[in-house]
Amino acid sequence: MNDNNDGGFTIPVEIEQYERKIYDLKQLIEISKGLNSTLEYNTLIDSILLTCMGQMQLLKAGIFLKKGIGFENYSLHRNYKGFEIDHSIEYDIRADSVLIRFLAQNYKCYPLDELEDDVDDQGSLMILKALDPTLVVPLVSKGIINGIIILGDRINSKGFTESEKEYLLNIGSLAGIAIHNAFLYEMATTDMMTKLKSHHYFHSIIIEEMERARNNRIPLTLLMIDVDNFKKFNDTHGHSAGDAVLIHVAKQIKDCVRQIDIAARYGGEEFAVILPKTDINLGLIVAERIRHTIEHDGIIYEDKQLKVTISIGLSQYDPAMDIEKKSLIERADKAMYMSKAGGKNMVTIL
Ligand code: GH3
Ligand code: MG
Ligand code: MG
Repeated sequence: MNDNNDGGFTIPVEIEQYERKIYDLKQLIEISKGLNSTLEYNTLIDSILLTCMGQMQLLKAGIFLKKGIGFENYSLHRNYKGFEIDHSIEYDIRADSVLIRFLAQNYKCYPLDELEDDVDDQGSLMILKALDPTLVVPLVSKGIINGIIILGDRINSKGFTESEKEYLLNIGSLAGIAIHNAFLYEMATTDMMTKLKSHHYFHSIIIEEMERARNNRIPLTLLMIDVDNFKKFNDTHGHSAGDAVLIHVAKQIKDCVRQIDIAARYGGEEFAVILPKTDINLGLIVAERIRHTIEHDGIIYEDKQLKVTISIGLSQYDPAMDIEKKSLIERADKAMYMSKAGGKNMVTIL
């Protein structure tokens, strides 16, 4: 490149380009580190969207992903930023749609009008048009599209250059891998029947939560829950009705607690809930809410109204006494058996 360098001006331009490339690569490494440091879905989505917005100075960003295990469509994730949403519309794109197949075969970032020219898929395009993004970025992992990012309006109202699109495609690929990993992690730590966390996950996370509570001197409360007379319920209504009720109870428990709380299926008809940043008084309120909800809101199964009750035991983590998780779990379990002995459909503190 120095051959015909008479005035010395070509070098700085090239160097500037290389420096830009190196800077971009460094940024991508940082983004990759950031995205790989969390397996928690919501945190990950936020970090993907905020990364795109920050890097490209955008006012709007959103992401279409499968809602979870067993979902077929890509839905607009609720953590979208800036877009105005019509709540009467389901922002869903089918995983087997022409649009998704097109993106897999023609892996690039697209302005919406380009997609309208190239893709014959009115259904998917209508969903996108309702949001009116300036750019659509495919997410890919192992050669398979696993979502799309939509970007809208830049602060400086400029379009995207080719190198910016390439850069965004790289972010899309990093994000696609991170999402795939988070999905695998979710699968490995979830009880498939109830979609709560698994027994194994519960035992590993409770150690972490106890440590966090001890180090930060914040309270932690554990709930142990057992369905009452469930053997008899199965005998009366059948095992499939029992399964349907367990799935329903799991959902009710999940709906009664915060996102940071960890609801797990402890065993067959037994559940455990870890309540971080929660003392026994607040824990009691949560436990009562769960007990009350389950007692009153049953499900209709094969034209029959089915309801169960639960017994709950709860205990607050005591750093001085609970050196091992075993001691806390046993105390909450003992409290649960006291609820059984006291007549069931009860909450007991120990
Ligand atoms: P208690 O009030 O003392 O807890 O009585 P119980 O009948 O609930 O207790 P027990 O431990 O004797 O029985 C639990 C029953 O839960 C037995 C088992 O068949 C049922 N069970 C466990 N897992 C499942 C499941 O996944 N599906 C269904 N349908 N039943 C289950
Ligand atoms: Mg039991
Ligand atoms: Mg039981």
